[in-house]
Amino acid sequence: MGMLQSGGAQITSRADEADVIVVNTCSFIDTAKQESVDTILEMAQHKISGKVQKLVVAGCLVERYREEIQKNIPEVDAVVGTGELESILAAAGIALPGEASESNSPFVILNSTAASASQSLKSGLRSRPEGELRESQGRFSRADWDGAIADLPNYLYNENTPRVLATPKASAYIKIAEGCDHPCGFCIIPQLRGKFRSRHFESVVTEATRLADSGVREITLIGQDTTCYGEDLGLKDGLSLLLERLAAIEDLRWVRFLYAYPNKITGRLLETMAAHEKICSYIDVPLQHASASVLKRMKRGAGAEIFMKSIEKMRRVIPDLTLRTSFIVGFPGETDKDFEELCEFVKAAQFDWLGVFSYSDEDGSQAYHLENKIPGREIERRRKKLMQIQRQISKKNKARLVGRHFDVLALGPSEETDLLWEGRTDMHAPEIDGKLFINDFGEHEELSRGEFYRCEITEAHDYDLVAKIII
Ligand code: SF4
Repeated sequence: MGMLQSGGAQITSRADEADVIVVNTCSFIDTAKQESVDTILEMAQHKISGKVQKLVVAGCLVERYREEIQKNIPEVDAVVGTGELESILAAAGIALPGEASESNSPFVILNSTAASASQSLKSGLRSRPEGELRESQGRFSRADWDGAIADLPNYLYNENTPRVLATPKASAYIKIAEGCDHPCGFCIIPQLRGKFRSRHFESVVTEATRLADSGVREITLIGQDTTCYGEDLGLKDGLSLLLERLAAIEDLRWVRFLYAYPNKITGRLLETMAAHEKICSYIDVPLQHASASVLKRMKRGAGAEIFMKSIEKMRRVIPDLTLRTSFIVGFPGETDKDFEELCEFVKAAQFDWLGVFSYSDEDGSQAYHLENKIPGREIERRRKKLMQIQRQISKKNKARLVGRHFDVLALGPSEETDLLWEGRTDMHAPEIDGKLFINDFGEHEELSRGEFYRCEITEAHDYDLVAKIII
């Protein structure tokens, strides 16, 4: 969006107002592919009706089905893969500097886009020894995918890449690394996103400083694996160092990171989190399973006992820790006993937030070739059962919060009713966790989006909280 806006485009979220529609897609599991295809077909109707001049498809679906998209949906004018972000201008018919615009566009393109292109190419050339090894083992091969190009994406944005924030005021994501070198058997993200590569340390710090200067108070660091941050740059404890630097930015209030890899949560990282008030006491560590035999076949390793020790350590070093994880149920060969072990582990670990995914059999993943696939109905039964267990845990744990006081970031009126506002404590990561509703503004006639208020929790539901403002 930033590149398009710098190129002179006006951004709208309404398809019926647009001259050019860009559909950004996902394709790591079946449901994501379906949602992407449905959206493309829905947007193609605007093209057929004659208002829209160009339909562009971007993102992971392009990495996987580049040729099929163009062959099967003729309304699509251009595709832009995850490594080709700079070609979005040409795809949208906006001319690069010195070129004639295809659509006689009055738009002017700023040089920052061209500058970011050359820097991003340079920054993507490093890799970790693990990445080299996995590449030699065929981890990133897309040879079996019809229509996928052989070149892996190598793109990284930097501090000069124009951005348009799509998040509520005062909140922003920063991607600190791209790609993944892990061998997880169910996952095709490495083939879609390429080898792991980190953004330069100072590039992230500069971007965070500028965001803070523009009013952002909450930053969420993301990447396919944030805990490997800096390894390809030769940094030891890269994420800890980065968090320390970001915590020193005066105007930032909350910094958190998502998607930690279990065995990469080091003592140093925990101590850094505990030492800085601005680093949220929040860890999101997708564990994927608890049975050692399933985890071994997933090519992730470890098991319930090791995970429990690690969780105990996290809670010891960070006493007010909020812990989030996600699991996959129905991995090929998952027995009743494996699943029971997972249920018992969830009861024992008492996660604050938990997501359960149904196994999706992805062509190109190593698990695709495994035998003993679990029928879909059984996968769904296991998913529901695990969520039911978590619902009870969450209900009990949320009830304990009633009467306690927290700083809350006010986000705006609730989508469900204008009578309530939504907010977030540092226990809530943006978008993925339960909600916090504010139903009593205290002495305030109105609330301001992006401001922090002191609140008391007055009600707790299974996952959501209700709060009143006290200061
Ligand atoms: S760490 Fe995450 S992104 Fe990387 S291969 Fe495993 S599941 Fe996929």
